Amino acid sequence: MILILIGPPGSGKSTQCQLLVDTFQLPFLSVGEIIRQALTTEEFSAYRHKVEAGNLLPDEIVLNVIRSKFNNIDLHKGFVMEGFPRTVGQASWIDDFLESKGFKVDKVVFLDNMGTETIKKRILSRHQCNRCKRVFAPEEIKNKGLCPLCDGPLYDRQDDQESVLENRIKQYHRQSHPVKEYYSNKNVLIAVDASKEIQQVFNSILEQLKNEQNNKESTASHDYAQK
Ligand SMILES: [Zn+2]
Repeated sequence: MILILIGPPGSGKSTQCQLLVDTFQLPFLSVGEIIRQALTTEEFSAYRHKVEAGNLLPDEIVLNVIRSKFNNIDLHKGFVMEGFPRTVGQASWIDDFLESKGFKVDKVVFLDNMGTETIKKRILSRHQCNRCKRVFAPEEIKNKGLCPLCDGPLYDRQDDQESVLENRIKQYHRQSHPVKEYYSNKNVLIAVDASKEIQQVFNSILEQLKNEQNNKESTASHDYAQK
């Protein structure tokens, strides 16, 4: 099974990914993490400074990184992916790539109904590492003020300008809307209310995955009956 999760910052994306990975025993592809790793290699070192300065990588580079990742994993095992695609162009690139290998995206889960205020409240209670730039919820931090991954100094996101966050949220909605339509037209979209509790959100995803499976089976037998 090939699943993609899309949601705004603060929507619980990584938590839901982890639950899906554990439940279905699927490999996990966090594209943000894959890109961070790629930037440590010689091949992509030229782009390290760009990203550190807060610039986005050119699409072409991102696609190169993802292509080489896809080429190095066993697609038969399926995967759960987050952090990609961000645009319709990227979404159709994945479809073409997977199709060329005999695979397809099975479902795309959209974490919906996250109002700007809910996102702001969740994000601003988090801490970010000044060194590795990873973000942590308060309960993930064991040593106060220190990054659980690299021991770098953490800073309070409350210091961030709210307007910066508001822009990120706006940008997410602007970018994700056409992507959602794209997957809706392909009949692979699962939309869930992500403002609920973690377990409720996850149950809703499972429920819809199950329904889809049942629909597929009944459609298949219907087709068969008609022949
Ligand atoms: Zn760190």
